[in-house]
Amino acid sequence: MMTLAPATLPSSSSSDAIFHTDVLVCGGGVAGTMAAVAAARAGARVMLMERYGFLGGNATAGAVAQFNSWQTANGRTVVAGLAQEVVDRLRIYGAAAAHERFVMSTGHRMDRVAYAPEVLKLVLDDMVSDAGVLPLLHASVLDVQREGRRIVQLRALTKSGIVAIRPGVLIDSSGDMDALRKAGASFLELEADEALQPATMMFRFGPIDFDALEAADIQALARRGYEEGALARAALHVARDPYSQDGWFNVSRLAIDATDAMALGRAEIEGRRQAWSAAKFLRHSVPGCADGRLQAFGTQVGVRETRRVQGEHVLTAQELLAPVAFDDAIAAGAYPIDIHPAAGGELEYSALGEDHAYQIPYRSLCPVGLDNVLVAGRGISASHKALAAIRVMTISMAVGQAAGMAAALVVQGAGSSVRNVPVPRLRAALLDAGALLA
Ligand SMILES: Cc1cc2nc3c(=O)[nH]c(=O)nc-3n(C[C@H](O)[C@H](O)[C@H](O)COP(=O)(O)OP(=O)(O)OC[C@H]3O[C@@H](n4cnc5c(N)ncnc54)[C@H](O)[C@@H]3O)c2cc1C
Repeated sequence: MMTLAPATLPSSSSSDAIFHTDVLVCGGGVAGTMAAVAAARAGARVMLMERYGFLGGNATAGAVAQFNSWQTANGRTVVAGLAQEVVDRLRIYGAAAAHERFVMSTGHRMDRVAYAPEVLKLVLDDMVSDAGVLPLLHASVLDVQREGRRIVQLRALTKSGIVAIRPGVLIDSSGDMDALRKAGASFLELEADEALQPATMMFRFGPIDFDALEAADIQALARRGYEEGALARAALHVARDPYSQDGWFNVSRLAIDATDAMALGRAEIEGRRQAWSAAKFLRHSVPGCADGRLQAFGTQVGVRETRRVQGEHVLTAQELLAPVAFDDAIAAGAYPIDIHPAAGGELEYSALGEDHAYQIPYRSLCPVGLDNVLVAGRGISASHKALAAIRVMTISMAVGQAAGMAAALVVQGAGSSVRNVPVPRLRAALLDAGALLA
C-alpha cells in the first residue's frame, strides 16, 4: 500500500506552501466535485482545487440550469448515484423542479430536471464539506511537475501566492484539461470536417408568463428571430428557474477555441451582446415575455468542448450507437449525439431508439503514458461526435463518481497504476453507492 502523508497545512517559512494529499482533483465542475466527494467517501484524503470561489463550472458559472437525460426515451433510468443525490439535495432547498419531459428546440423530446444555479453552489459546498474534502478555491493551475509516467506535483496560483500540491493520484476535471496540458499529455485532434462546438452566454430573463410562452409557436418565433438577425441561432431554449418567474435562455452562439485567452475574452463580450439582442426580441416579440427584462448573465460563457485527452480507449459515436457493451463500463447514458455547429442556426441531433442506452468504459478515463492520473468530465477520451452525447451533466457526474472511486482504490493499494485498478471491484463499489452502469 502506498504511504501518503495527510493533506497538511503548509509551514509559513517555506516560499511555496506545500500540501500532500492522496487525491488532488483539479477543477470543481460537476465532474470534479463528484470525483472529490466519491474519493473522500471511499476513505481517501482529497483536495479539490478550483479557479473560482464556488464549485459547479458550467452548471453554476455557465448557468446551464437543467440536468438533461436521466432516462432512455421509454423511461428507463440510466443515471443515478451522486447525480441523483445532487437533485435530492437541491429539492431540500426547494431549488429543483420535478423530473419532466419537454420538447427541445429541435422538436425532439427529452427528460430533464431544471434547477437554480445559485443554489447548486450551496449544495456542492454541502457535499464537499460533509465528505471532508479540503477545498482550495480561487486557485488556478500554474504548472505541473512530471517524473516519467507520474505527476509528482502541481503548483497553483492563489491569493496567498504559489501553493504546491503533491498528490498520490491527480484527477484532471478542469474541462480544458489544463493540468494534463502542462504535463505534456497527448490530446485527440478534430477530424478535417469537424469543429469545436461553440460556447454560449446563458442569460436570465423575467418575469415570464410561462403559460403564455408555452402556448406560443416557439419554433416559428425562433426562426423569425434568427432570420431578422435578433437571435444567433434559431432556438429559444429556456429552463425555468424554480425560485422565480424567470428563465435561463440558451440562445447565443460563439465559435471559439475557449483555451485561447484572447478569443475567450472576445466571446464574453460578444456573448453579452447576443444575449442583450435576444432579450430585446423576447420582450417585443414573444408571448409571455412583454414584462421581462434581462436579469443576469452567466459568470462566464458556457464551454461545450475544448481538449479531449488521448486515453487507453477512445470512445466513438459508433460504439454509442451500436451500443457496445464494455466489460469495464463505469457509467451509462442515454443523451443523443447533439452537435451545435460553429456557425449557422441549426444543430445536428440524432435521436436514439426507445430503450437505447450506452456505456462509458473505464479506459476512457486513463490518459496514455501516465500512471497516477485520471480524467473526468468533458475532457475524457472520446471522439468529437461521442463527446457531443456524453458531455451532459448527468453523465459527467456519473463519470466523476467513477473517477473518484477509482482514485481511492489506487491510493489504498488496489492497483499500482490507474490502469490496473481491479475493475470488477470498482464496478461493485459504484453499484453499492447507487450508480447505474447500463
Ligand atoms: C451552453 C451550454 C449548454 C448546455 N446544456 C446542457 C443541458 O441542457 N443539460 C446538461 O446536462 N448539460 C448541458 N451542457 C453540458 C454540460 O454543462 C457540461 O458538459 C458539463 O457541465 C461539463 O462538466 P465538467 O465538470 O466536465 O466541466 P466544467 O463545467 O467545464 O468544469 C471545469 C471546472 O474546472 C475549473 N477550471 C478550469 N480551468 C481551471 C484551471 N486552470 N485551474 C483551476 N480550475 C480550473 C472551472 O472553473 C470549472 O469549475 C451544456 C453546456 C453548455 C456550455
